[in-house]
Amino acid sequence: MSGWYGLLSPPKAPEVLRGRHEADWTIVGAGFAGLAAARRLSQLVPGDRVVVVDAQRVGWGAAGRNSGFMIDLPHELGGENYGGGPEHDRKRIRMNRAAIEFSAAAVDEYGLQRFFVRAGKFHGAASEHGLGVLRDFENHLTGLGEPFDRLDGPQLKKITGSDFFVGGTFTPGTVMAQPAGFIRGLAEGLSTRVQIFEQSPVTSLRTGKLHTVKTPEGEISTPRLILTVNGHLESLGFFKKRLLHVFTYASMTRPLSKSEQAALGGEPYWGLIPADPMGSTIRRIGDRIVVRNTFTYNPDMSTSDKQIAQIGAAHDRSFRARFPMLGDMAMEFRWGGHLCLSLNSAPAFGEIEERVFVAGCCNGLGTVQGTLYGMLAAALAAGSDEPMVADALSEPAPSRLYPEPLMTIGAPLKLWAMRRRAGREL
Ligand SMILES: Cc1cc2nc3c(=O)[nH]c(=O)nc-3n(C[C@H](O)[C@H](O)[C@H](O)COP(=O)(O)OP(=O)(O)OC[C@H]3O[C@@H](n4cnc5c(N)ncnc54)[C@H](O)[C@@H]3O)c2cc1C
Repeated sequence: MSGWYGLLSPPKAPEVLRGRHEADWTIVGAGFAGLAAARRLSQLVPGDRVVVVDAQRVGWGAAGRNSGFMIDLPHELGGENYGGGPEHDRKRIRMNRAAIEFSAAAVDEYGLQRFFVRAGKFHGAASEHGLGVLRDFENHLTGLGEPFDRLDGPQLKKITGSDFFVGGTFTPGTVMAQPAGFIRGLAEGLSTRVQIFEQSPVTSLRTGKLHTVKTPEGEISTPRLILTVNGHLESLGFFKKRLLHVFTYASMTRPLSKSEQAALGGEPYWGLIPADPMGSTIRRIGDRIVVRNTFTYNPDMSTSDKQIAQIGAAHDRSFRARFPMLGDMAMEFRWGGHLCLSLNSAPAFGEIEERVFVAGCCNGLGTVQGTLYGMLAAALAAGSDEPMVADALSEPAPSRLYPEPLMTIGAPLKLWAMRRRAGREL
């Protein structure tokens, strides 16, 4: 179980899809994309019956497992493969901010402020290599006219309590979410206008004049379908050999005692992204610390307790390197979660069959981009004339993966090489 989910009180009993139903709109997947689509539909077609089905409890999947950085800026800025120009970046920033404001309106309406804090994010470098990446990032921000603050090691220590970092960059536009709390709160808020069935995995889809969605105990006939199942688009028969299934992992400490918090110092709430993408993301949430690192290639879309435990050892090493004053800290929660990536970093978006729409595969940035493409899929499906829909439709589709055995051999090798290069940033 993710720590974010574990910190919430247990949910009420789920409503499982049973028997035959008819709906004007059916959304499969209740993560960021699915719930954004549901909320947008409830605004665009208020009298229609909108049904959402999810295989699990809301917040159990990646939507409630992520690190909660809802980032307004293009994430790749400064990376060595970065290929966007200023016009592309400005458009991306506008779209990301529109998605954040869409979420913020829901936060205000449903009283979710404790799960959604406009705190900004820190980037931390632990090496010369990391500092170089951050300087590149800052140059891009300057070119775009985006504000940032540069921090040296002692300034970062004042925030984090750790003298591990040699420098950093702060950008103000990121929202820090408690992802499971936010996503569950969003589902509860929507439940007066939208019906949400949980623990109801879609086992088959038949498309036609009326589409049929089947789950183990129920069935929905629906003229319009929005698929927001992230990498499981492939399980439903779409985007075959175009989606990369990668897992990443996190551990959350037990609560730190008052004396441990005093020994740590720093501020109680902050989130820090590593300068190198293969480094460790760290969050402090009051009396606990969360560490996330490591990516594994899992084309079968599942991980195991053994893999989570092995990677937990890497989390412990990264934790000790940053917070030696806390000794061998026990982790109360450890978990892994599924990311959907594409080779060209393109999302899966659009109308893939008549009245079948998709929004997914947001390349590990789905808290904002899942929201964005979910709300745009609803707008596209409802025929709403929004300029951002045209922008999203003009983006490329996920490109084909390399043929086997190149993926099975090459993807883990590439991850291994990137991990080595991250060095101290891990
Ligand atoms: C450890 C970790 C850290 C991360 N950190 C960040 C971060 O800081 N910021 C960020 O932006 N992103 C982060 N991500 C990525 C982010 O979680 C995803 O991009 C995001 O959840 C994608 O949203 P989504 O709605 O497209 O898909 P998901 O959240 O995966 O939701 C898809 C839903 O579809 C359901 N589903 C799948 N198949 C079926 C089926 N057959 N029938 C019914 N339902 C089905 C699933 O149960 C799931 O609830 C992180 C991910 C992980 C694992």
